[in-house]
Amino acid sequence: MANNLFESQLRQLDKAQSILQIDKNIYEVLQHPQRVTEVSFPVKMDSGKTQNFDGYRVLHSDTRGPGKGGIRFHPDVNLAEVKALAAWMTWKTAVVGIPMGGAKGGVICNPKEMSSTELERLSRGFIKEIAPHIGVDKDIPAPDVYTTPQIMAWMLDEYEAITNKKEPGMITGKPIELGGSLGRDIATAKGGAIVVDDACKHLGINPKKATVAVQGYGNAGHNMAILLGELGFKIIAVSDSKGGIYNKAGLDPVKVFEHKQKTKSVVGFTGAESISNEELLEIECDILVPAALENQITAENADKIKAKVVAELANGPTTPEADEILHKKNIFIIPDILCNAGGVTVSYFEWIQNRIGEYWAREEVFEKLEKRMITAFDDVLAICKENKCHMRTAAFVLAMQRVAKSVALRSCHH
Ligand code: GLU
Repeated sequence: MANNLFESQLRQLDKAQSILQIDKNIYEVLQHPQRVTEVSFPVKMDSGKTQNFDGYRVLHSDTRGPGKGGIRFHPDVNLAEVKALAAWMTWKTAVVGIPMGGAKGGVICNPKEMSSTELERLSRGFIKEIAPHIGVDKDIPAPDVYTTPQIMAWMLDEYEAITNKKEPGMITGKPIELGGSLGRDIATAKGGAIVVDDACKHLGINPKKATVAVQGYGNAGHNMAILLGELGFKIIAVSDSKGGIYNKAGLDPVKVFEHKQKTKSVVGFTGAESISNEELLEIECDILVPAALENQITAENADKIKAKVVAELANGPTTPEADEILHKKNIFIIPDILCNAGGVTVSYFEWIQNRIGEYWAREEVFEKLEKRMITAFDDVLAICKENKCHMRTAAFVLAMQRVAKSVALRSCHH
């Protein structure tokens, strides 16, 4: 990947810093990850042969609380990416005001070409390597791209075997039977749908008349399409890594999901036109939801985007250059560190439930999530108006202010 994601993240910080003017020494702390762990480990494959895998766990900041963030299994994983994703977790947890820091992990692998037993051994092998650095009060992993509740279950089991005690709160996004939280499965999308609804109210867009395109039909994307559909939005285009589908009259997101479960892709869904992932981004619609990988909206295609709102359910889907172009076009961006914070917010609820040993009803989880998302959206919008800046910079201003304060309070120089 040509674009260094960590550098992009630093450029976002610089923009907010020009408004914030944080003390120079403290700003320097915010620019650096606290700890980078790089591991390499062998996994026995089904063939009987051993294959070596490389992975990372980055703790960006634990000043506001233990590190928090998912583990990604993907062939394109690299250190700059994991560092950026870890930093975004720091800003994300701060935007929604949960007492946690930021971290992220990744293993370079292609889970689509691995069997379930191979994936289990890979998951266990990775946890063995990073075990000294994680734990309920240190750093708490969770799912991310191509990792699932089942993978969290293997990781928990491995960790508990190593430490010889029960510690369900060491990882979130677990299956319900092992201490997972009700509602965690759709939490990222739920949080996203709440802030899209807020943004529409703010902009005077009527959901019943608005159209939506969703890039990515994984956990976040498909649930977002379904939830927005329930709110009355018309889903006109969706895509996954194999391609996209389009129907101006609207697609049934549940039926599309069933088709994907059967055939492994949204492509080939009856009653829809085939489109490419690139075409999806440029479609005439009101709400565009990038819900796949980073660096999708770039200097090359930003000018062709026709949506009124870009709701970033993926992490880092918009490059800094594209950001400028979208702003000039007056497109309202709900930045990733706000838009997709519902996932980590319910992870935090899962962690609380594990610690107190008491479990909440689904409605209770969603009620608490809604309150936090609405507060965060209002807080960011207020900063946006006060400083006449854009939503992304406002979200960074809010987050960096909170993290800088906690760094200052702990620092011996202040
Ligand atoms: N991977 C998700 C994210 O990027 C969730 C992290 C978590 O629940 O800790 O926000």
